[in-house]
Amino acid sequence: MEENRPLERLYELGLVVGSTVNLDHETAAFTEWLSRASEVTLAALFITAEDGQALQLVQTIGFPLPAETTLPLGMDPWRWLKERGVRTLQEDNLCRYAVPLVIEQELLGILCVVSCRSGEDLEREQRLVSTAANYLAVVLRNIRRYQALEERMAEVERLNRALSDLLDDLQAANRNLEATAARLRDANEELEAFAYSVSHDLRAPLRAMEGFAQALLEDYAGELDPQGEDYARRIMRAAQRMDRLIQDLLAYSRVSRMEIRRSPVRLRQAIEEALGNLAEEIQARGAQVAIEEPLPTVLAHRSVLVQAVTNLLSNAVKFVAHGVQPRVRIWAEERGERVRLWVEDNGIGIAPEHHERIFRVFERLHGVETYPGTGIGLAIVRKGVERMGGQVGVESEVGQGSRFWVELDRPSRQAWGNQGQT
Ligand code: ADP
Repeated sequence: MEENRPLERLYELGLVVGSTVNLDHETAAFTEWLSRASEVTLAALFITAEDGQALQLVQTIGFPLPAETTLPLGMDPWRWLKERGVRTLQEDNLCRYAVPLVIEQELLGILCVVSCRSGEDLEREQRLVSTAANYLAVVLRNIRRYQALEERMAEVERLNRALSDLLDDLQAANRNLEATAARLRDANEELEAFAYSVSHDLRAPLRAMEGFAQALLEDYAGELDPQGEDYARRIMRAAQRMDRLIQDLLAYSRVSRMEIRRSPVRLRQAIEEALGNLAEEIQARGAQVAIEEPLPTVLAHRSVLVQAVTNLLSNAVKFVAHGVQPRVRIWAEERGERVRLWVEDNGIGIAPEHHERIFRVFERLHGVETYPGTGIGLAIVRKGVERMGGQVGVESEVGQGSRFWVELDRPSRQAWGNQGQT
């Protein structure tokens, strides 16, 4: 080594080491520089393993890399080298020293050197090697950091890919769901249209049956014996009942298909209109109806609401024990953004286990002989109210009367401003 040119040597080191992030390349470049810049006869460069538990011999000068390269942490490297047949003994004119590669208290490796220098020359060489080792430590730490960063980036990329796969799956599932919903909607609409046209077409032959039975009774009055007359009457009654059923089914179908437009509706007016529809029935049964104020305004489709209230009131005066005067009470209750309208009667009541099923089409708890009806009234109430964004329900026990309720939105200021009240 040219003793007076350590700076130039270090400058050279800077040119060949530290330009890549490849550990093998950098350590090889370092030992190459070391053999050129000094007169070391033997050198062993150990690097701390990833887990920090051992040292790994990665580069050598003056002897070949042994098969076994792992040195347990804490073991004397000189002894370890000697055990592998490396001649490291200090001979007359040889000196050996070890330089730790440390940065911020982290041991990144050890450089073992055997030099033929002595005295001041040796001291100069040691200073140079020590500075170079410090520089290598910085390079090694940067490589480690870069590798850790790369691993994290790869992990982030993996997570990103997994996330985007998940998103794809979710979108596909959504598309499937939408397609299924659309198919279901189409099928439902088709079914409803079919039911509507069939119901409609059924009424004509029914009317013919009823008409001919009537003609039989009127035009052949003298010729039919009592049994024949009874048959003709039964035909008429059956035709009338079927016509009632079909009309109710058509009403249900209509409420399911019609376009619902909500606007503010005064409950008081809707109730009065419903009572008007039932005036005859109420009078015939001698029913008493009490309407309690205040009755606020709700957001509803007027005719659908009137129909729902009519059905509830009709049931309230109908399902009463024989000989009891029907008494109905109507009131409303504000519940946050909603209004609940109650219709209470003193009727026969409904067992709790039937509270849900009575809202389904054709569900009745009694024979037609006891209480006439088709079993569609409450289905129309539920369908209509739900289509207006509301809910229905009942509280009742057998023999203790019933309280049906309908809950609807209150109109927002905006709805008040936009639409006239009906
Ligand atoms: P319908 O009145 O034509 O029988 P609904 O759908 O209106 O059909 O009612 C279904 C069933 O629910 C009725 O048959 C009756 O058994 C029961 N129900 C409805 N309203 C009342 C009520 N207010 N009190 C007792 N039972 C009722």
